[in-house]
This record gives sequence, structure tokens and C-alpha cells, in this order.
Amino acid sequence: MKITSAEFVMSNSSVAKCPNEPLPEYAFIGRSNVGKSSLINMLMERKNLAKTSGRPGKTQLINHFKINKNWFLVDLPGYGYARVSKKDKKTFQKYITEYFLKRKQLVSGFVLVDIRHEPQPVDVEFMEWLGTQGIPFAIVFTKADKLKPGTIDHHVDTYLKKLLEGAWEEAPPHFVTSSSKRTGREALLNYIDDINKDFFA
Ligand code: GDP
Repeated sequence: MKITSAEFVMSNSSVAKCPNEPLPEYAFIGRSNVGKSSLINMLMERKNLAKTSGRPGKTQLINHFKINKNWFLVDLPGYGYARVSKKDKKTFQKYITEYFLKRKQLVSGFVLVDIRHEPQPVDVEFMEWLGTQGIPFAIVFTKADKLKPGTIDHHVDTYLKKLLEGAWEEAPPHFVTSSSKRTGREALLNYIDDINKDFFA
């Protein structure tokens, strides 16, 4: 898929206020610092479409971007912040879960995890929750350039194997990406493109 336009549409804290156009929508989520903003900017070939965060709390909104005038990319607040107050944390979990449960346009989530790390409880719990709710998602491994090329497959296999020890029968689709090397860009965009074609068929 060629990206011909990527426009910021709106940020808000409630699913009720999200755009009501019936376009297919893809939501990106992950822990703070996982590389979500970098990935979105890399996919869209824009330097600053998604702001790189740095500080927790800065991106606690549902951010809609309209891509190629026919689908939405959604940048969701990260989960698992340690430095926000308990009260804030509760609110933000609620609008994330509300978003996934209520957003009819949502076609797939993309859960970002750092390829270097073992499955983290908060990520696994979130994926299990999505699975239980029947919400489709794919896993996006980030920062693949930080591993030696020969060890990437091993890390991915180990991660998926651990995940499958939980409630899973089958691993979700997954993508290996690096924002600095532009790895995985085509595969991820083609995946979205294929789903969009079915959506509009
Ligand atoms: P966010 O909080 O999930 O939006 O993460 P950011 O996109 O702000 O990235 C967090 C940090 O990881 C920044 O210092 C980025 O430069 C770095 N980073 C993000 N993606 C990559 C990547 O693909 N490779 C490498 N080496 N660093 C990355």
C-alpha cells in the first residue's frame, strides 16, 4: 500500500466522540516506550505524525488519523504506566477497554511488544483479554534492529511459545518491525490493505 495521505483527525478521551464515518479502523497499542510513535511515523513516512512520547501521560487520548482517505489508524494511550496516579490509571484503562468493546469500526488491534523482552504480564493479560472478548489483533514486535539478525526468529518463536502456554490455541498473526531500518513496513501495510479490500468488497 502506498501512503498518499495521512491526516490527523482528532484526539479525545471517549469512544462516543470518535469519528462516526464507517471506515475500517486499526488500533495501535503497547506499553510506554515500546516504539509506537516511531512505528506509526515509519509506516506513514511522516516525521512527526505521532509524537514520540518520552513522558508517560502525554498520550492518554484516543488519536484518530485518516489514511488515504479510506481507513483510520488509531494511536491509543499506552497501558501499564507506572508514573501516573492511581486515579488516572483507572480512567485510562477504562477508555481503552471501552474503545475495544464498543468501537464498531475496529477491524484489528496491533499490540506492540519489544522484541528483546520476554512476554510481560501486562501485555499477556491485555492480549488474553482481547482474545476472551473475541477482538482480532496482531502482535507487532518492535526494535528488531536491536537484535542480531540470526537471533530474531528465535526470540519470536520463544515469545509465541510462551504465549501459547496460556489460553491460546493458535498464535495471533505477528510482524517483526524496526522503525529505524523500516523493517516490516510492507508486510504490515499489505496486511491492512488486504483486510481493507475485503471490507470494501
Ligand atoms: P512510544 O512511547 O511507544 O511511542 O515509543 P517511541 O516511539 O517514543 O520510542 C521510544 C524509544 O525507543 C525512543 O528512544 C526511540 O528512538 C526508540 N525506538 C523506537 N523504535 C525503535 C526501533 O525500531 N529501533 C531502535 N533502535 N530504537 C527505537
